[in-house]
Amino acid sequence: MKTTNVLITAALLAAGICANAQETLPKQIKAGKERVKARKEIRLPEIDGYKLLKCDFHIHTIFSDGIVWPTLRVLEAWEEGLDAISITDHIEGQPARPAIEKGNHNNSFEMAKEEAARREIILIKGGEITRSMPPGHLNALFVKDVNALDQKDYMKAIEEAHNQGAFIQWNHPGWGVDSIMWHDVHETLFRKGWLNGIEVFNEFEWYPVALNWVNEKNLTLLGNTDVHDVTERLYDFRTTSHRPMTLVLSKDRTEEGIREALFDRRTLVWFYDTLMGKEDLLKKFFQASVEVKPVHHTTPERIYRSIVNHTDVPFLLKRTDKNANGYPETIEIPAGETILIVLPKTGSQPVTYQVDNMIISPEKRLQVQLF
Ligand code: ZN
Repeated sequence: MKTTNVLITAALLAAGICANAQETLPKQIKAGKERVKARKEIRLPEIDGYKLLKCDFHIHTIFSDGIVWPTLRVLEAWEEGLDAISITDHIEGQPARPAIEKGNHNNSFEMAKEEAARREIILIKGGEITRSMPPGHLNALFVKDVNALDQKDYMKAIEEAHNQGAFIQWNHPGWGVDSIMWHDVHETLFRKGWLNGIEVFNEFEWYPVALNWVNEKNLTLLGNTDVHDVTERLYDFRTTSHRPMTLVLSKDRTEEGIREALFDRRTLVWFYDTLMGKEDLLKKFFQASVEVKPVHHTTPERIYRSIVNHTDVPFLLKRTDKNANGYPETIEIPAGETILIVLPKTGSQPVTYQVDNMIISPEKRLQVQLF
């Protein structure tokens, strides 16, 4: 009884303090409208009639070792202009979440799917098969039942994912290891057709050796955030316009379109100002993005032209043609902007430039003929 009295007194005191504090504030605190979040649209070209869908295939929530609720992942994706995400919570790692129901690996998908439907975000069911290297971490995307992947033997888990029709991605092959290696088990998985792609970019780092594997073995190239925190706490959107992502060349804006494109290896990776991918796709991306306008003014020595960048990807060019005297040595075409270019009237055309921020392999950048 005594204890109750003390508690009541304390509660009354607290209420009194609050009431006093309230009086010092204006009655209507909300001035004007609530902040309305809008979706940022990302401008990218179409290539060969394919849409470029903006996707993040590696995301965590509180249902593994992330710190956010599944629906927030959908809101972030919508606001940041993405088309598709896959929540890929660790199947084996759900640390320190005693208050959350454990064991049902489909939870994060189930909780996010209604919000995804409301916002037209394609939500791909996935899970992360988590082991130390080898084989490391593998995301199984487009699975039907993540629970069936919860197996002691990781080969059985991967086989189950494959049997469910999953696309299997080897995550961050260079993370947490002294040296990045293609182990025997990766060779086995690759030969069985159970390893379909490699995450060459993860969170803040990329793995040049893994890009070589993708090219040599004709695998699918992927780049994702692996975000555990809120995305705008992980990436500073004042210095980068977007989160790192996989661009999927899809027939349409559907889950099946994405699945078909991933198995057909039609992807590019975009992180910060860098685009990575196969040479033909990068070339088409550049051609569809950059428009070199006809000469609009001439003087006895010079000609004037404009170059328009129709996309949200900037292009950083360096002249590789040594003999093209008078042509700019470097050209920067900022995202969504037009630049004016002054060229010699008589010159050696066409002039070749290297696009420094379009990576084909660790040693090779895209070459283009601009003029
Ligand atoms: Zn992960």
